[in-house]
Amino acid sequence: MQLRYSFRLYPNGPQRSALGRAFGCARVVYNDALRARETARAAGEAFPKAGDLSKLLITEAKKTDERAWLGEVSAVVLQQSLRDLDTAYRNFFDGLQGKRPRVGVPRFKSRKDKRQAVRFTANARWRITTGGDLSLPKIGDVRVTWSRVLPSVPSTVTVVKDAAGRYFASFVVETDPASDVMPEADGVVGIDLGLSHFAVLSDGTKIVSPRFLRRAEKKLKTAQRDLCRKAKGSSNRTKARIKVARAHARVADARREFHHQLSTKIIRENQAVAVEDLAVKGLARTRLAKSVHDAGWSAFVSMLEYKAARYGRTLVRIGRFEPTSQVCSQCGVKDGPKPLHIRVWECGACGAVLDRDINAAVNIAKAAGLAVSACGAQVRPVPVPAQRDEAGTHRDGHTTVAGIPI
Ligand SMILES: [Zn+2]
Repeated sequence: MQLRYSFRLYPNGPQRSALGRAFGCARVVYNDALRARETARAAGEAFPKAGDLSKLLITEAKKTDERAWLGEVSAVVLQQSLRDLDTAYRNFFDGLQGKRPRVGVPRFKSRKDKRQAVRFTANARWRITTGGDLSLPKIGDVRVTWSRVLPSVPSTVTVVKDAAGRYFASFVVETDPASDVMPEADGVVGIDLGLSHFAVLSDGTKIVSPRFLRRAEKKLKTAQRDLCRKAKGSSNRTKARIKVARAHARVADARREFHHQLSTKIIRENQAVAVEDLAVKGLARTRLAKSVHDAGWSAFVSMLEYKAARYGRTLVRIGRFEPTSQVCSQCGVKDGPKPLHIRVWECGACGAVLDRDINAAVNIAKAAGLAVSACGAQVRPVPVPAQRDEAGTHRDGHTTVAGIPI
């Protein structure tokens, strides 16, 4: 199985300029090749071959005054750029033929693109130095934070600069599937991805997003508000824009971290996991809710998917063929839709008191053919507040009598 490992890079000033040149040259070669192919297409000629393009746009181009600077970067980076364009075209044509999901026609790259990247293959003779730096041809030894251990030696490294101006080294690593399979777990679980909670499990666990994520989101909101107040074209606006980009990056990181933690925990504890197909679910939601949650959910579900595959677990996606809030997860009786504000109800047929989210999660598990204990869907009747003269616990934990802390 192929896995991607990313690490933060800290290039120094000269290395940043060298990387900037590499991004630029890779982009120019990509665009030149795209133009050559589009011209051929417009003229009704055959697509130029990759080998010919390489000779024309790299080897020959370096000898011209206009493109002499292509010689300043590793040739492998330029070759990879041509290969990327080939892949982009292949994906486009395969999409047209229905061999894979449709993708757009390859487009010209711009200096203003949010993500800049170059790839070094084994041919480029990049390596990890004994001091733990990433040594890149014509760039130098770049400092890396190795946050995890690579399971095997990668052959290719992609260097990425994101919208927030951060640099990353991204390795694709082949892992041995047999060595990853975990011992069998007892649990089976259905997951309802909700609006009031990030997720609700059929065992009754409700998961809200962690505080570090909510804090990052709050900071992003503040940064966005600040940006709106800055005059257009001012240098303060530029600064504010960078702040927003950084805050965005932090939210994305925090969200990814949270998804990793949660998906690993669920996969570790359960042998089989059922989730709703999000494409189906999307129809049932408002536009706003969709925009806030969809990206997060599909990223989370694909993490569950690859971890299930990696660790020998089963992941079942179900379509919403049965509206999960309309059916009692205890007796199976369908008693019709309920407005969104109704979170808890009593089943008219069997008398079970059902929590909307947990009921949905249990129904998802059942629809996937998983035998979950349905008791999780049941909640006790709404708690009755303690009488005034009864000993009780104050919200802050102090024991009180008749509302007076003791
Ligand atoms: Zn019932």
